[in-house]
Amino acid sequence: MNYSGKITQLRVIDLRFPTSRSLDGSDAMNPDPDYSAAYVVLTTEGGGEGHGLTFTIGRGNEVVCQAVECLRPLVVGQDLATFASAPGEFWKRVTGDSQLRWLGPEKGVIHLATAAVVNALWDLYAKQQGKPLWRLLCDLSPEQLVACIDFRYLTDALSPAEALELLRAQAPSRARRVAELERDGYPAYTTSAGWLGYPDEKIIRLCREGIAAGWNHFKIKVGADHADDLRRAALIRREIGPGRKLMMDANQRWDVGEAITKMRELAAVNPWWIEEPTSPDDVLGHAAIARALEPLGIGVATGEHGMNRVLFKQLLQARAISFCQIDSCRLGGVNEVLSVYLLAAKFGVPVCPHAGGVGLCEYVQHLQMWDYVCVSGSMENRLIEYVDHLHEHFLDPCVIRAGRYLPPNRPGYSIEIKAASLRDYSFPNGAVWQAPAPPLRNK
Ligand SMILES: [Mg+2]
Repeated sequence: MNYSGKITQLRVIDLRFPTSRSLDGSDAMNPDPDYSAAYVVLTTEGGGEGHGLTFTIGRGNEVVCQAVECLRPLVVGQDLATFASAPGEFWKRVTGDSQLRWLGPEKGVIHLATAAVVNALWDLYAKQQGKPLWRLLCDLSPEQLVACIDFRYLTDALSPAEALELLRAQAPSRARRVAELERDGYPAYTTSAGWLGYPDEKIIRLCREGIAAGWNHFKIKVGADHADDLRRAALIRREIGPGRKLMMDANQRWDVGEAITKMRELAAVNPWWIEEPTSPDDVLGHAAIARALEPLGIGVATGEHGMNRVLFKQLLQARAISFCQIDSCRLGGVNEVLSVYLLAAKFGVPVCPHAGGVGLCEYVQHLQMWDYVCVSGSMENRLIEYVDHLHEHFLDPCVIRAGRYLPPNRPGYSIEIKAASLRDYSFPNGAVWQAPAPPLRNK
């Protein structure tokens, strides 16, 4: 199979998993998600395939698929070599179509579609190079990495020269950190125990199983019923003991004042961070919450709904976050994600990427490992989220050992889904969606 040459085909699949039937992924804002993906397959004239997806939670996934169709003329007919020689220029072209830009710019459905396509290009490029994506990125020179990034709107916070300086500082010691990752993996935390829809017995069982499996960081969902949050948080703190870290995620449920009041009460169980306390667009609101909670030792984390690099720039400039949570396919794919890592490094804020969903764990492991090798050079206060759902559908699923991600070693971006899963879970005609829904299972 030859991955080089012109891209001759773009196929998009509306893929949906009926996760709402078991309340996996349930939180205060999203009580019944069906984890879904607008799934893109690019084919080259040699028959090589690059795969990419963007994540949604069900209804409306068809709208993202339609937006991918709108991007088709910008990609089909292009040569992979053109992308590989100037990934940043290619990214500007995909996001810069003067008519499509009106739908964003660089936000919403059109940007989700951009992520699926851009990530598929990177998967194709990595396969063509015979490397896992993180190794491909770690083998790019500081100059080549800077050339992946669109610095438009960033230069008041981070110039290309500053980015180059950050990357050059870590370049001489890259090989040592690659070897360390290959030996020890990268630390992670689990969200699997704390979904809002789970009954107490299930939470207790999952906490105990998590500790036995080597987890030291646990995240729970809050924000629906405050009395219940206080009770569940105390329950989990009791189970995990005082030494392990407990994080909370409100999934945008609160107003600013409410977030401060409620977190002051939840401070009793010593949370490490509060994630998405309020609207993801409210930079100054996050800053107010951060200032109020700082004396309590609680950091503010956000970013999974951060639409683009400009929003992250503002969050960092306003000192509104202590933890930066990039999303691998809400930002416009690998290129834009790299820019946010560099911004975060400039401001000294650790990145702890958002994962879970479908495919997000597979994606972000590559990005975070690149960050360790090429940008931050540190794992301090940095963890990759891990959620134990749907990995069985991937050809090269992420591998966890004792609470750490082991580095992927197969070529590509680890996102390729098995052909049988693509067939059975395609919406609405796949076998899973044609069969009658089984009764709710939540034990
Ligand atoms: Mg979250």
